[in-house]
Amino acid sequence: MTAHDTIERPAPSAAAGVTEHFDVLIVGAGISGVGGAYHLTKQCPGARFVVLDALESFGGTWITHKYPGIRSDSDLHTFGYRFKPWVGKPIATADEILKYMGEVIAENDLAPHIRYRHQILSARWSSETNEWTIEARQGDTGEIARFTANFLWMCQGYYRHSQGYTPDWPDMAAYKGRIVHPQTWPEDLDYKGKQVLVIGSGATTATVVPAIAAECAHVTVLQRSPTYFIPGRNAIELAETLRQLQVDESWIHEIVRRQILFNQDAFTKRCIEDPETVTKELLGAVRAYLGPDYDIGTHFTPKYRPWRQRIAFIPDGDLFKGIASGKASMVTDEIERFTEKGVLLKSGKELEADIIVTATGFNLSPLGDIDFTIDGKPLNFSDSVTYRGLMFTGVPNMAWVFGYFRASWTLRSDLVADFVCSLLNHMKKKGAHKVEVALRPEERDLPRLDWLDQENFNPGYMLRGMHLLPKRLDRPEWQHSQDYWTEKDEIPKTNFDDSAFVYT
Ligand SMILES: Cc1cc2nc3c(=O)[nH]c(=O)nc-3n(C[C@H](O)[C@H](O)[C@H](O)COP(=O)(O)OP(=O)(O)OC[C@H]3O[C@@H](n4cnc5c(N)ncnc54)[C@H](O)[C@@H]3O)c2cc1C
Repeated sequence: MTAHDTIERPAPSAAAGVTEHFDVLIVGAGISGVGGAYHLTKQCPGARFVVLDALESFGGTWITHKYPGIRSDSDLHTFGYRFKPWVGKPIATADEILKYMGEVIAENDLAPHIRYRHQILSARWSSETNEWTIEARQGDTGEIARFTANFLWMCQGYYRHSQGYTPDWPDMAAYKGRIVHPQTWPEDLDYKGKQVLVIGSGATTATVVPAIAAECAHVTVLQRSPTYFIPGRNAIELAETLRQLQVDESWIHEIVRRQILFNQDAFTKRCIEDPETVTKELLGAVRAYLGPDYDIGTHFTPKYRPWRQRIAFIPDGDLFKGIASGKASMVTDEIERFTEKGVLLKSGKELEADIIVTATGFNLSPLGDIDFTIDGKPLNFSDSVTYRGLMFTGVPNMAWVFGYFRASWTLRSDLVADFVCSLLNHMKKKGAHKVEVALRPEERDLPRLDWLDQENFNPGYMLRGMHLLPKRLDRPEWQHSQDYWTEKDEIPKTNFDDSAFVYT
């Protein structure tokens, strides 16, 4: 049985020309959207809702990415939902994650609420009706399905699923081999016995390289600058011990989550307070795999402080084992231009390859490429100010899920779900039809800052897309703090009667 077999109960499809109405419309059936659907059924029983997704099934990130070895880079005790125990190894494959999500859908009878192959094109808010009108193109027929909804819950992820980011290098057209982006990995790609060049040094590279290296003639990783990694055993001792003691899986899940979160909090604090020692430890772990003569200074010593970018966990050090075995090697240099046979580097060296994999990241897509209008005016998302990274000034009846970089995404999608469900229940009690966040008079003239403090966190796709994102203020409530450890206490205490929430 595949992961998808568990959910294939066809959800109903709207009859042509009929507008269907829902209390809540969830955009996206990835881990956030499916989690949102679960929480709605538990916390807002009776709410009429639908989940729409452009793809052919649930999973989002975990079905879009089909490159060899595709796996999580954070542990599944915290990347899994808080309500469903994770019973496998902490770093999981995409198939394992899809199976887990399929079980959540089946166990909670969520399938009838989810409609696949619905690419949402537009979302129009009307303050006359206090409703969103959503138009979606149906993948099988191309027909437009129309919905109205009181509340829009954006679980669209953060990047464009249809196309990854590839820089525009000079003379790319001259290259005679095949260029592949991991996000659109071709099923027929034959890399056996081939020279493969992987450009980029993030989590994707760290996954693809060990997965293909044994079958390739050789894999060269070309990076402009190094990245931090944490190699380690793909197991959690505490979980193993508790299992030996036959402790209930739901207890194990909760206890192990607490241990992981405690350790991550301590690690983050050490990164900020004592980055040099942490750097030494991280590099020491890499050195243990690569030996005393390997040039770690050039290839594995980043220029930034640990934790300014997500640190990928390398299960069982597989990337470094590939390098130590000679099947993979690192080059730290910059591309001057492409050639017929590969790339010419700024150092003058040419790297030849049959296949070039551009593991160069994502195109940020904060609103799922949906055309938003508010009372007839196009929404310029970057003009708004965010309330805790989950609501936005000038955008009524909408909440948005953007997870954590330094902790698992799903920790936040569970927290946001509690927030949305409490807000919906509060509105029902009040008899309110519209809610909007608004700056208080004393906040209106405060400087509007970029979404993200680059000193704190600076991955390329965020820097490239910063102009697309809303603004923040230098106030805890008016920014996405990226700090799970304060948000887990603060978000549940939200006072929905505070003047930051304006109801009609
Ligand atoms: C390869 C990879 C590995 C990762 N590993 C981890 C990890 O280990 N830990 C971690 O915390 N994070 C990880 N991340 C980040 C990851 O994307 C998130 O953690 C998480 O999967 C996001 O879930 P989501 O449901 O919010 O969004 P997505 O998984 O991006 O799902 C969004 C869904 O919304 C749909 N959608 C978007 N726009 C529209 C539209 N207009 N109409 C209809 N449907 C739409 C998409 O089709 C998609 O199915 C990883 C990311 C990648 C790319």
